[in-house]
Amino acid sequence: MGTIYEIFGSDAHAMTMALMEAAHVEDMVPRTASIALKPNLVVAAPPESGATTHPGVLSGAIEYLQGHGFRNISIIEGAWVGDRTDRGFRVCGYDRVGEQYGVPLCDLKKDRTRTVDTPLRPMEICCRALDADLLIDLPVLKGHCQTRMTCALKNCKGCLPDREKRRFHAEGLMEPIAALAATLRPGLTIVDSLCGDLDFEEGGNPVPTGRMFLGTDPVQVDAYGCRLMGLKLSQVPYIGLAEGWGAGCTAIGPDDIVALGRPDGAADYPAPTGKVAALARRVKADSACSACYAALIRALYLSGGAKTDIAIGQGWRGKPFDGLGVGSCCDCAARQVKGCPPTAEAILSALRR
Ligand code: SF4
Repeated sequence: MGTIYEIFGSDAHAMTMALMEAAHVEDMVPRTASIALKPNLVVAAPPESGATTHPGVLSGAIEYLQGHGFRNISIIEGAWVGDRTDRGFRVCGYDRVGEQYGVPLCDLKKDRTRTVDTPLRPMEICCRALDADLLIDLPVLKGHCQTRMTCALKNCKGCLPDREKRRFHAEGLMEPIAALAATLRPGLTIVDSLCGDLDFEEGGNPVPTGRMFLGTDPVQVDAYGCRLMGLKLSQVPYIGLAEGWGAGCTAIGPDDIVALGRPDGAADYPAPTGKVAALARRVKADSACSACYAALIRALYLSGGAKTDIAIGQGWRGKPFDGLGVGSCCDCAARQVKGCPPTAEAILSALRR
């Protein structure tokens, strides 16, 4: 259990520096430590879309660390299956941040990996994440169409190669996310909760929430994220599983949240709309990858909902289905949208047909 520092405003750079100063981050590791900053760049979309970490969080963290004499800093990330990390680096302005501060950007899709034991099974994890002396997790607090919310723990999935990410989905996400948390534990988490999309991981419906928070226990940070979004811990099972495997503690005591000046009239956190559950009413998902499922939900949203049953996911391989199958896994469906993952546009045109 630790302290969570929370700050309100809209200037990601200044807010990040203030949070790090409050937590005395400079005392956590020696000045010679290698520090890896892991933002959320799941798709190549600007932070205003509600999907990705604001570049000001990166610049604030780097300026703070360099100002305290840290030199061995890098930005690491691997986009989701089906998108390119380098495109995200450009679209989000991380390339400019890297250039300005002389910090390298590392695409984890191209990194070496090592297989390490976890409480669930051996897992393949990227070396740059494993080998950093201090891994700083920089997630966005937002909704997720399969796990309800995503924040500190799920953001670490970006430290896996694509084949391991696919396997996570085949295993239903919850247990592998928790097992990863027990093995790859960020020493610090700084959450961008400025305008996350409260329903969709890939953004598109940003909700201004104007705050950021920092903690050293990623399980506690996620428990606080749940509280803000009005979710019970039981609705996001990987958090409790991670606690059971010793990754941290969900308890939040009355003195554990330290607000750095909450402005008068700061709005309460809005609740997710429940839109995704309504759109997914006729979807039979079995081990679907995030990019695939998100493209389907996006297409359903644009088309106004499903008029037929829809199959999606790796669990449908080789199984007949008398409806629309989404993705190359559903090649035995009566009708199929091809692709791995297929685009939302392709699914939309199939839904309209
Ligand atoms: S088609 Fe299958 S393997 Fe490809 S992204 Fe979709 S669910 Fe994953």
